[in-house]
Amino acid sequence: MEYFAPKSVSEALSLLERHGGQAKVIAGGTDVMVDIKYKEEPGCLVNIKAISGLSGIKENNGGLHIGPLTTIREIETSALVRDKLPVLWEAAHQFASLQIRNTATIGGNICRASPSGETLPPLLVLEAKGNLAFADKESREAFTSFFSGPGKTSLGAKGLLTGIEIPYPAAGSRGVYLKHAVRGAMDIAMVGVAVLITPDAAKNNVQDVRIGLGAVAPTPIRAAKTEALLRGKPLTPALLKQAAAMAASEASPIDDQRSSAEYRRWIVEALTRRGLAQTWKAATGKEVA
Ligand SMILES: Cc1cc2nc3c(=O)[nH]c(=O)nc-3n(C[C@H](O)[C@H](O)[C@H](O)COP(=O)(O)OP(=O)(O)OC[C@H]3O[C@@H](n4cnc5c(N)ncnc54)[C@H](O)[C@@H]3O)c2cc1C
Repeated sequence: MEYFAPKSVSEALSLLERHGGQAKVIAGGTDVMVDIKYKEEPGCLVNIKAISGLSGIKENNGGLHIGPLTTIREIETSALVRDKLPVLWEAAHQFASLQIRNTATIGGNICRASPSGETLPPLLVLEAKGNLAFADKESREAFTSFFSGPGKTSLGAKGLLTGIEIPYPAAGSRGVYLKHAVRGAMDIAMVGVAVLITPDAAKNNVQDVRIGLGAVAPTPIRAAKTEALLRGKPLTPALLKQAAAMAASEASPIDDQRSSAEYRRWIVEALTRRGLAQTWKAATGKEVA
């Protein structure tokens, strides 16, 4: 296996171009090293950790710019993320163990494109976008269209994620990320649900709501029908019950070693109900009643 440690994005891109499907990007390596040990060895590794300018968190045009090499621990310890994007902070805080959080990067979590990737439901509800670089072009794409299947993204084999742009949610919004896993720590989500809610000025109706579901479909998804059902209405107990059941019906989970599909649907319903009630109370001061 060949190994390269390019110093610039352009050098990394030409290596990916030259080695085509044989090359594998490595950042923190918490997924790649496990794959090398238990699945297959790539023809060559392109370690992007030495490229400057790809890590860090800064304010940028009414939102945050996060470099793909930023570790999950850096996100967890960022006051900016905790204050401005608590839904993403919660995902970082519940991620694996301290040891893994110190090594794993947000870019690796995104590019791995695992249906259970912890940061993905929060990024979907925040309507974040990725800066993508290829040998012949650059583009910016919303994460709502970036994932096409487990492990599959718009980057293909020759692209690099070079930045993550996250707009601040509307004033008065409240968000939450709820994770259900077999163990309390060091475990991948069996189901992850992110909710971001914005009440209207009078705090009577749901003005906007976004619901992101993880580990219950081939890619992380937005529960678009449930969101449409809720918009423009007061969050009554009957509507809450209907919305939670609808979110479960929008999921298409599988049976695997972590859970049956049926149980996952049930958890989606429970977490959606809890997430909506919790964020509504935080945003309006009102219990759902
Ligand atoms: C013990 C353990 C516990 C874990 N627990 C969790 C958990 O609770 N939640 C969770 O979501 N995940 C978990 N994971 C999975 C893993 O830690 C995360 O997916 C992590 O964010 C991957 O980041 P990384 O930097 O280590 O990526 P790497 O392993 O370096 O790369 C992951 C993938 O992304 C690609 N890649 C990385 N960066 C880029 C880039 N900038 N551009 C293009 N492609 C890129 C790589 O080629 C590879 O395909 C766990 C893993 C382990 C080993």
